[in-house]
Amino acid sequence: MSLAAVSGINIVGAGLAGSLLAILLAKRGFKVTVYERRADPRVANAERGRSINMALAARGIRGLTLAGVLDQAMSLAIPMRGRMVHEHDGSAGLQMYGVRPEEVIHSISRADLNRRLIEVAAQLPGVDFQFGQLCFGFAHDKDVLELRDEATGRIHHAAAQPTIATDGAGSAVRAALQEREIATVREVPLDHDYKELTIPGRDGKHVMDPNALHIWPRGGFMLIALPNPDGTFTATLFLARAGANSFEQLRSGGDVDAFFSREFPSAKALMPDLLREWFEHPQGSLGTVYTRGWHMNGDVLLLGDAAHAIVPFHGQGMNCAFEDCAELMRMMDEHHGWAGLFEAFEHERRPNTDAIAQMALENYQEMRAAVLDPEYRRKKKEEEELEKKDPNFIPRYSQVMFHPEIPYSSVKRAP
Ligand SMILES: Cc1cc2nc3c(=O)[nH]c(=O)nc-3n(C[C@H](O)[C@H](O)[C@H](O)COP(=O)(O)OP(=O)(O)OC[C@H]3O[C@@H](n4cnc5c(N)ncnc54)[C@H](O)[C@@H]3O)c2cc1C
Repeated sequence: MSLAAVSGINIVGAGLAGSLLAILLAKRGFKVTVYERRADPRVANAERGRSINMALAARGIRGLTLAGVLDQAMSLAIPMRGRMVHEHDGSAGLQMYGVRPEEVIHSISRADLNRRLIEVAAQLPGVDFQFGQLCFGFAHDKDVLELRDEATGRIHHAAAQPTIATDGAGSAVRAALQEREIATVREVPLDHDYKELTIPGRDGKHVMDPNALHIWPRGGFMLIALPNPDGTFTATLFLARAGANSFEQLRSGGDVDAFFSREFPSAKALMPDLLREWFEHPQGSLGTVYTRGWHMNGDVLLLGDAAHAIVPFHGQGMNCAFEDCAELMRMMDEHHGWAGLFEAFEHERRPNTDAIAQMALENYQEMRAAVLDPEYRRKKKEEEELEKKDPNFIPRYSQVMFHPEIPYSSVKRAP
């Protein structure tokens, strides 16, 4: 079917990618229906204990710019110019992310950005958000979406039209494609989990430098903290699930208290609610999802985490999902049929998403250990000097974060 012959598109999942995509498609004149299992975030509260804030960088900015929502997003963000590395002895030093003033990344709340994108999309003609609607697959006779109204339990079907599934790392649409032997999926769980905690502000002001991403690297594990506009920081502990220094060992308040006193005394001093939050906040799991077969004819396409969830250590999951959206728009100008478009999309994007999946895993090692190594610091300094002298030299980190014109796969291939 030609792109022009279709007026309506379904999106499954009104997360970051789904809501951005709704704006981009509506601006191209499509009628967009978005099915989201959660309640409307404009009226419901965010999930308790999940206040994820993320690093937004150039690839994400490209997608937001294309949708005309960059200013709206940036009004929620705080620039971070480098990593503030906190050592065991309480000393801290800033390692800059780039050599140019504009080479910063931006701390932004996932929930706030998502809500803002939904607000913008909902105002566009032709966009219809259906909240509280869980998609659980396709009807077997026809390629139509099967949905359940979460409030009433009513099962209903959505009209067959191209569907873009942005239903996240645990995608039900991906599972349906897998069941039909269209997608092959390899899920590789990380053996480290995470927990979010808070560093409150004092009189509404940040108690540490707000323009930095703070890291307490401890070799096998780490604590990080990103600033929020309300003067707080969201801190995240990344730690092995089991074994020495692990979540499994932190059972009682005494265990947690002793662990933070030993490993992160400077951060602990700033966390008056540590123990309460520790037991109230969930322990989240992480992993990488590799999928082959992102599409079914011209009917269904997986995009964002649904196709390629990655670990968060390069701060690229959302950035990559927004780049997916921008790339899909670019490719719509080059293709006349949905089947060809979806096929070409996977063909072009998968080498890149595989590359960032690998680089994100490697960056965990860099963040939790290498940043402490004098040899690593010497090399970084050398790179910085070289970059200042030679405009053609761009370090790998900068290529990923600040240079969306360089595909992830080229970054990874470079020596
Ligand atoms: C701790 C942590 C830190 C992170 N830090 C960063 C960072 O610094 N930078 C960065 O770029 N990325 C980061 N990420 C990754 C980022 O959050 C994801 O890559 C991004 O949210 C992916 O967007 P998405 O729209 O594909 O999926 P999601 O944002 O997960 O959205 C999926 C949506 O689909 C809905 N849904 C799910 N199942 C169904 C269903 N069956 N039917 C209907 N709706 C459904 C969900 O409710 C949700 O609204 C981080 C992730 C984590 C966990």
